[in-house]
Amino acid sequence: MPDAELGAPTVENVRVVVRVRPMDQKEKLDGAYNCVSVDSVNSTIAVTRNNVSPPEPPRIYAYDAVFDSNTSQMDIYVQTANPIVEQVLKGYNGTIFAYGQTGTGKTYTMAGSNSAPELRGIIPNSFAHIFSHIAKAKDDEKFLVCVTYLEIYNEEVRDLLGNNPHQSLEVKERPDIGVFVKDLTGYVVHNADELEKIMAVGNKNRHIGATAMNIESSRSHAIFSITVENSKRGSDGKMHVKMGKLHLVDLAGSERQSKTQATGTRLKEATKINQSLSVLGNVISALVDGKSTHIPYRNSKLTRLLQDSLGGNSKTVMIATVGPADSNYVETISTLRYANRAKNIENKTHINSEPGDALLTRFQQEIDQLKKQLEENSNEIEEEEVEISEEELSEDTLTDPELDVLDPEEKKIRRKMRREEKEKISREKAHLARKVLEEKKAELQRTKKQQEELKEKLQRLESKVLVGGENLLDKADAQRRLLEQAAGELELRKLNELRLQEDLQKKEAERLDLEERYSSLQEENAAKTRKLKRAVQLLNSAKAELADQQREQQREMEGILDGVRALRRELQLADLVLDAYIPKEYQALIEQYVHWNEQLGEWQVKCVAYTGNNMAPRLPPHRPHTHRHLSQQTEAPDLSERYLSYSSARSASRLARPPSARPAR
Ligand code: ADP
Ligand code: MG
Repeated sequence: MPDAELGAPTVENVRVVVRVRPMDQKEKLDGAYNCVSVDSVNSTIAVTRNNVSPPEPPRIYAYDAVFDSNTSQMDIYVQTANPIVEQVLKGYNGTIFAYGQTGTGKTYTMAGSNSAPELRGIIPNSFAHIFSHIAKAKDDEKFLVCVTYLEIYNEEVRDLLGNNPHQSLEVKERPDIGVFVKDLTGYVVHNADELEKIMAVGNKNRHIGATAMNIESSRSHAIFSITVENSKRGSDGKMHVKMGKLHLVDLAGSERQSKTQATGTRLKEATKINQSLSVLGNVISALVDGKSTHIPYRNSKLTRLLQDSLGGNSKTVMIATVGPADSNYVETISTLRYANRAKNIENKTHINSEPGDALLTRFQQEIDQLKKQLEENSNEIEEEEVEISEEELSEDTLTDPELDVLDPEEKKIRRKMRREEKEKISREKAHLARKVLEEKKAELQRTKKQQEELKEKLQRLESKVLVGGENLLDKADAQRRLLEQAAGELELRKLNELRLQEDLQKKEAERLDLEERYSSLQEENAAKTRKLKRAVQLLNSAKAELADQQREQQREMEGILDGVRALRRELQLADLVLDAYIPKEYQALIEQYVHWNEQLGEWQVKCVAYTGNNMAPRLPPHRPHTHRHLSQQTEAPDLSERYLSYSSARSASRLARPPSARPAR
């Protein structure tokens, strides 16, 4: 591994791209006006409202890349996800968020359609990409691919690959292990085609959960995570493990929840419905304003689980999706603004090398141990088999050479007696020998059975560890070919674009040259008027944007004040209950002994430690390589027992970061 890769972390901004979906049938039938125009050369999006008087200037926003409604799924993959997955394969963490109003193409972009390979989204394409990388790797490299799939709705986390889609899982955090989801199912993948099964299970569970709770999936966040572990012999002769983790996040619809939807529920529940999304916004604001000392990651499940993705150790891209129709103008502008702010988030990334929680290392150790055990067992079986065959040979070999020296009569009698005696002894002996033999055979059977079990266990484990060069793509091979083709085409297009841009620049320079060489004053005057007009247009556009933002802030402020008023009412109720049931002196006592734990985000009663159930583990030293957010369970039944202690060792603590990364309030 080159040292440069393991050296100082790289700092880079979150990459933000925008995708505009085509007009849908209904919009077309309604004769909707297309208010969004995409300038892919300058990477800007302009939004113009139709039929307003006085006419408004277009709002213009710039991004890292913009994609119009003709952009194919393959092009999106090649230009947005491909670079992130490449980094994940090198051992970095990566995150791809889809953000936008419901119906603008988040799920289409992330999962896509199953009906044709070219319509598939980022999740299946990244699978084909990862397994094609494994197929091309050398056979001394080993890989392990593990996925989890969860959903957050109403601040409850549900396992989409588990047995019970209704069960709400706990997000836990401990100083020694960081943030993890307790009992989340981790599925070790053997080949690319298994993805279909995983997605089918996940989507069915998502559907069951949504129907049971009578909600639309547009209100929940889905996180599909793929962990790729890789081990390779280094120049020092030792095996080195790297671990990249990719989060593919299909966020809840970004549209404002209308207030009517919240009526009837108590404030606590109503605010919870999209708490994760609004906290995500607050986290982004706090990260980019440069003045905040507190980033409110802890205020929602989504931001807790994806803390590294924003402002942490992850290569992150946000894909903002918008619709083209004028009827969605307000939401489109709101999405574009949100995405625009996210561009300013800085992440610090490093390769996760030699992670303490690598499954690969663990499985390899188990495999080696099983192999040793198998060998010992084989020897035992061989010995037992030899013993049994010897026993079988010696069964009928009784002789009596003494008889030969006696006279014939006596000999006859003696012989008869002897024969009878001998027959008796021999019967007894044979009986005993049969018994021993049976026991030995049973023992051999037992050992052989044990051997079979060991072999099976070994096979199960070995099938999880993928060896470089193995082709595990099968059906997904078509997907891989499409991706490679798209990548090739992109190269060509990029070259073309470069040429076009050069032409454009040349023409612009010529035009400026011409403008400068005006012969008559009149022409100069006209040109200046044109320039002035352009400047005025830009000024108006900026002014309009400013006014919009002020109105928006005003609305937000009103929303916050509403929230404060409602909270005050709840507080008064709580006070009322308190005063009615808890004597004043006890209240004072409690207040004296509680303190606010910033790290856990909860009130704690002091001195509880003396009761023996709150022995906080000591903080371990800073281990930057082992961040892993979601705990995982292996599907191997033989390992599941170990899972509890194992999952708890999987991720290094958030709290184990240097104090500068966790500013106190
Ligand atoms: P969201 O997940 O944001 O609510 P969906 O992904 O479900 O939106 O998209 C809504 C509809 O629009 C779906 O029928 C989807 O197939 C279609 N759609 C979205 N984006 C595109 C696109 N870029 N090209 C073609 N159809 C699209
Ligand atoms: Mg969706």
